[in-house]
This record gives sequence, C-alpha cells and structure tokens, in this order.
Amino acid sequence: MTSKNIDQALQEWKILLGDTDVRTAAELEPYKINCLGLTRTILAALRPSTELEVANLVKIAARWHIPLYAVSTGRNWGYGTSLPVTESCVLVDLSRMNHILSMDAELGLVTLEPGVTQQQLFDYLKAHNLDFFVPTVGAGPSVSVMGNALERGFGMTPQEDHFGAASAIRAVLPNGDIYQSHLPSIGAATANGVWTWGVGPYLDGLFSQGNFGIVTSMQIALARRPEHTEVYIFTHQKETSLSEFIDHCRVMLSGLKGSLGPLKLMNRRQIEMTAGTDDVGMGFTPDYEWMGFGVIHTRKSMVRPIRAYVRKSLDGYLKRMLFMNTRRIQFLNHLCRLIPRSWGRRFQTQIGRLEELMSIMNGEPRGLELKMVYRYVPMPENKALDPIRDGVGLIWYAPIIPFKASVVVPMMSMMDETLKKHGFEPVVSLTVLNESCSIGVIPVIYKKPEQMEKAQACFEELCKRGTELGCFPYRLPISAMEDLTKNSSSTYWDMVDRLKSVMDPERILSPGRYARRPS
Ligand SMILES: Cc1cc2nc3c(=O)[nH]c(=O)nc-3n(C[C@H](O)[C@H](O)[C@H](O)COP(=O)(O)OP(=O)(O)OC[C@H]3O[C@@H](n4cnc5c(N)ncnc54)[C@H](O)[C@@H]3O)c2cc1C
Repeated sequence: MTSKNIDQALQEWKILLGDTDVRTAAELEPYKINCLGLTRTILAALRPSTELEVANLVKIAARWHIPLYAVSTGRNWGYGTSLPVTESCVLVDLSRMNHILSMDAELGLVTLEPGVTQQQLFDYLKAHNLDFFVPTVGAGPSVSVMGNALERGFGMTPQEDHFGAASAIRAVLPNGDIYQSHLPSIGAATANGVWTWGVGPYLDGLFSQGNFGIVTSMQIALARRPEHTEVYIFTHQKETSLSEFIDHCRVMLSGLKGSLGPLKLMNRRQIEMTAGTDDVGMGFTPDYEWMGFGVIHTRKSMVRPIRAYVRKSLDGYLKRMLFMNTRRIQFLNHLCRLIPRSWGRRFQTQIGRLEELMSIMNGEPRGLELKMVYRYVPMPENKALDPIRDGVGLIWYAPIIPFKASVVVPMMSMMDETLKKHGFEPVVSLTVLNESCSIGVIPVIYKKPEQMEKAQACFEELCKRGTELGCFPYRLPISAMEDLTKNSSSTYWDMVDRLKSVMDPERILSPGRYARRPS
C-alpha cells in the first residue's frame, strides 16, 4: 500500500459516506486509547450506516489494497478495545448500524445490527412487553450484543454461550459479496432460527474469531424468562476440602440441567474489589476464602424442591447459604425503612448489592463488575463507568478449565500465585457455564503506563503455566495473536491460512487477528 493508494481510497470513501463519517487525524485519538497500553497507527475510521455502504467500502479497500479492521462498538476492554492487531489499518466502526431489524416474539428470535447495545436491546424488549433475557455481560450496558457474540463472550443468563445463540448471519466478504447463512440464502429463513446448522458445511462459525467477513446482521435466539428466577449465594467453609466441594458442585449441576443456570465462584479479593468490602452483610461473616452464587430458573411450584436439592447437594461444605428473589428483596426493602439511621443505611447498601445481582441474573444490563477494574484510577461520580475514558490498565486472562477438581484446584492456585509473584491483586474467579466447562476470569489490573510491561509479563506467565496444566484462554488480547499462531507446523493454522488465501488473498480483513500475520 502506498500513500497514493490511501489518498485515493479516502477520496472514494468520502464520496460514499460523506466527510463526517470518514474520520482522520485528531479524530482518531479516541479509537487509539486501550486498556492494554499499546500504540498503533490507524489511517482512518469509516462509519457506515448500511450493509450496502459496508460492501462498497470493502470494494474500495480491496481495489487500493488497504487493510480494514471492523468493530461493532469497540468496547473490547482488556482485549484490545478498538485497536487493530497490525499497524496501518483503516477502522470500520459499525456503531452507527444500530437497528433491531426484526423480532419473532413467539420463538424469541431477534435480528440485530452490530451497533445494538445491551441496553438498547433491553429497552426494546421492555417497550414491546417481551419477556426475554438480554444476554448480559459484566462489561455493562454500553457493549454490543453482536461484538460480544462474535468474540464468543459469555454471561450468567440461561443462554450463557453468546455465539452459541447466534442462529443466522449476514456478512460482507473481502470481495464485497454478501454472505448469508444457508437456510435464509435458499429462502427458508423461517426454519433457520430453530436449526442453526442448516444443511451442508456449517460456515457461520468462520465469522466468530475468524474475520472472514464483516458481519452486518445476526439473528440471536433469546431465552424466555421463566416464571421464577432465584439466586443462591453461599460461602465455602474453608475447613472443608475445596476439591470435594468443586466435585459436589459439578454433580449438583448435572443432576438438574435446565433449572440450574451457571455458577460463579469468587475469591475474597474479587468480592472486596467489586463490592468495595468483603463484609457483604446478610449474615455472611468475612472469614471465607471463596464465595459463590448460582441461579435457579423454574416454575414457582418447583422452587421449594429445587432449594432443598441445592442445599442437600452442597451440605457440609458451606458456611452459609442464602436464597434470594425479587419478592424477598422487596420485603427486605420494606423492612429497611423500619431500621433507624446508620444501621438502616448499611442494610440498604447490602440490599442494593443483592438487587444489582438479581437484575443481572434477570438479564438487565448493569456495570457491577466494572467497579473492580478501578483499582488505580478514581471512579467518577454520577457518570457511567468507562475504562477507556478513565485510564484503566487491564489485561484479561480467561482460560477454559474443565470443571473437575483435579484441574480447577491447581489452576486456581497457579493463578493466585502468579498474580502475587508479579505484584498484582490476586483477583480470581471462575464462571461455571455447565457441569463440564468453567472459565477463569482473571483481570491483570495495572497502573498505566508504568506497570504495563510487568502486566504483560504476568499475562504471559499465566498463559505458559496454564498451558502446562492443560488449559488455554478462550479468547485473547491482540498482543497475544502472534504467539497464538506462530507454530509453523500446525495443520490447524495451515488450514486457516489456506482458507484465507482463497477468501481474502490480500488479507484486507483484520490481518493477524486469530490468523497468521500476512508475510
Ligand atoms: C469489568 C469488565 C467485565 C467484563 N465482563 C465480560 C463478560 O462477562 N463477558 C464477556 O464476554 N466479556 C466481558 N468483558 C470484555 C468485553 O468488554 C466485552 O466482551 C465486550 O462485549 C466486547 O466489546 P464490544 O461488545 O464493543 O465488541 P467489539 O469490540 O465491537 O468486538 C470485539 C471484536 O470482535 C470483532 N468484531 C466485532 N464486530 C464485528 C463485526 N460486525 N464484524 C466482524 N468482526 C467483528 C472485532 O475483531 C472486534 O475487535 C468485560 C470487560 C470488563 C472491563
């Protein structure tokens, strides 16, 4: 690519999109700030508003050999934010494409554009009186539903695996053609939403952590809210075996599939940094090492036997367990008004935390976890939290950990030890998605810019030691892409290379992202 190429392309993009939606020079600064502390030259940012504009801008990029890097809302905090993997890309910022295109209220199938945020989907469902969960994540209301799904994000609502809920895709390919999932492409869109795989090779998977196209719309299967949702919160009794406790949790989850949703296990430091205290009240004494919560989705008539099942499953390993639902919270709020002054305020704060947790479990987007990453920067008052604006330094290490004690316990110790060794907060938590799969959620929170190299070294050691224990992240920060693909004798990456050579011979789409760097 020469400077003549980029000048020519910019002229054509301005004709296509208008001057204001082709951003250059100082307008690019907000796109460059990232929690990893990396720097990149970005040539321009394009802000299309329709699929046709995306197709045409891709054709211009192909003609002038200019690499593009697409983001939905670009809030991939702790993994790279909006920053491309390689130098000198042009960003495609899809946040203006923010329409909910259709909703099948009977089947819960929503089709949306990349810029639709969690809050927007929540507001839409509420306005239309539709009782479905938003697939929420800890990053809060402002992140893209589609961007998160394409990165295979996960959460605590019943559809915990977000790409797993994607049932149809439309995308612009590197030559400007439009890809559609198979069944819609032959006119059988109605059947598609209920049978993701269609017939023939399943190609939609190429667009998740694949960058074989710029995804312009996605159909997602939403989970309908059940009659009753309830959270159980517990502390592990540290005198009892953690290994045995983990194995009991697995047996419990496998024994009541469908009614028991994901489980979250958090160490004490994680609670302190999220809640601002390790003394969460409600009868939980701050002498625990592990606190956890899980979720029950069921019919009202089934609540009592399920509570009894959960209690019995974990019996003997818990210090305390509490079942909480919206009705109980309303009752506590009522009770609170009868408690005098400072005690009342303290109680109110404790109930507020429960309310926030309950909202997340009910599929309402909240930014509860965001507070945790403000270790070295002040939290703004009366403003939504924004790690980029506020200067947060963060790298996520999120290994896939088979949910059995023989793997979980050594991984937990390794993560704790490695964070401490490098002088970082030992914040360790585990999201147990089902009876076989858990994912470690480890933030390396650092002070920018002075601790950046130390944080990177800590992340690398976590990856190395995790691999020795047989575990590897489900998703990576952009700084780790080169290492991921460097094995020259890997048939896996060879095959990706060959597919790229056919689909994207000039490597114009997100070069180096989950693929070998173009030579
Ligand atoms: C405190 C905290 C808590 C978090 N909790 C969670 C959590 O619970 N679960 C979770 O999954 N993540 C979590 N995150 C990580 C992250 O912030 C979210 O995953 C967020 O949803 C990603 O940003 P985004 O939605 O703006 O996606 P984007 O940044 O827009 O997209 C992510 C990547 O996907 C690709 N992409 C996006 N859109 C397209 C497209 N249309 N076409 C082609 N490629 C595309 C791009 O490569 C892009 O870089 C958390 C972060 C923080 C700081």
